[in-house]
Amino acid sequence: MTRLDYSTQCIEEDDIKGVMEVLNSPFLTQGRKVEEFEKALCDYTGAKYAITFNSATSALSGAYLACGISEGDEIITSPISFVATSNMFVTLGARPVWCDVKLDGNIDETQIQRLITPKTKAIVPVDFAGKPVAIELINSIAKQHNLLVIQDASHALGSSMNGKKIGILADMTIFSFHAIKPITTSEGGAVLTDNEEYAKELRLIRSHGMIKKELWNSDMVRMGYNFRMTEVAGSLGVTQIKKLDTFIKKRNEISAYYDERFKNEKLFLTQKISSGQISSRHLYPVILAPQLHCSKEDIFKELQELGLGVQVHYKPIYQNSFYKEKFGEISLPVANDFYRSEISIPCHQQMSLEDAEFVADIFLKVINKYSFRGCSF
Ligand SMILES: *Cc1c(COP(=O)(O)O)cnc(C)c1O
Repeated sequence: MTRLDYSTQCIEEDDIKGVMEVLNSPFLTQGRKVEEFEKALCDYTGAKYAITFNSATSALSGAYLACGISEGDEIITSPISFVATSNMFVTLGARPVWCDVKLDGNIDETQIQRLITPKTKAIVPVDFAGKPVAIELINSIAKQHNLLVIQDASHALGSSMNGKKIGILADMTIFSFHAIKPITTSEGGAVLTDNEEYAKELRLIRSHGMIKKELWNSDMVRMGYNFRMTEVAGSLGVTQIKKLDTFIKKRNEISAYYDERFKNEKLFLTQKISSGQISSRHLYPVILAPQLHCSKEDIFKELQELGLGVQVHYKPIYQNSFYKEKFGEISLPVANDFYRSEISIPCHQQMSLEDAEFVADIFLKVINKYSFRGCSF
């Protein structure tokens, strides 16, 4: 049995053919393919503007810059995310105010209100594993307090809420096309928005703040970077997005199989997708019961030895040494518990139902074995 990773890319002949065509063409960076991919992102989600970047990290940075986040601002965000979500506003001198999460890994929308101060500029929720956050409530809190909502939907391209795709539900939405995200451009990201002003700023920020004038003349009108996507990446985006719905269907089949197998489990919880929601199922997170917490390292090692490429998502961002040094000890009860108990098991579009059966069998066997050990000290 080959090793099954918690997530993996799916590159096929059409993807390779597209890349070869680009490599044989005169244009290697941000050109026709990138534009075609941006249009496809708009068509798929219904957003007015899609501005691609060379990673979601650059896209986050671009989004925060475009709306003027700066020194002294506060941003309410989730600690259960990849560090880049918080890192990119810390680089601007803004302060992350982490809000606790729920057991599904998403920000606890009921706790946002009390964290708002006169310095708060934006709310940055993360759709954990692809499950949409409670965006309607978050938007209404934001509206009451005149805050922006920037959704880090790096896991959630293709997810939707009541028929509306993630990408049109916040002021700006960020997607990642890193190798193992819902679709890949090898490295890449995008900001989607309906706001023309942000779109204009984002395009300037990604390319040195320069606009073309006549003949050789160009003008740098604001500070900017080289955050551009290559044509090679753009081409992958064009072929991959055509297959997104097939990928999501497959990951939902695998997840549905697990949901069924695990429905009466007492030793762990799984992430429940609410009615009206579709999840990209970027990850299949499992939350172990407290009596398994102290065995998590052994469980993790044993699952890996048995061929399951499990992973843990995520260490709360405030537990990283950089953040401890900068902001001191922070401790949010559910986020801490979430980290103690979470394991992501293999779930991706390259898996068959037989693979899923294999994963579920091994997982149940290992979990049951450790349930007798307990956590007594
Ligand atoms: C992957 C990820 C990022 C960073 O994406 P890159 O494209 O690798 O820069 C940011 N936020 C979240 C939630 C992610 O999962």
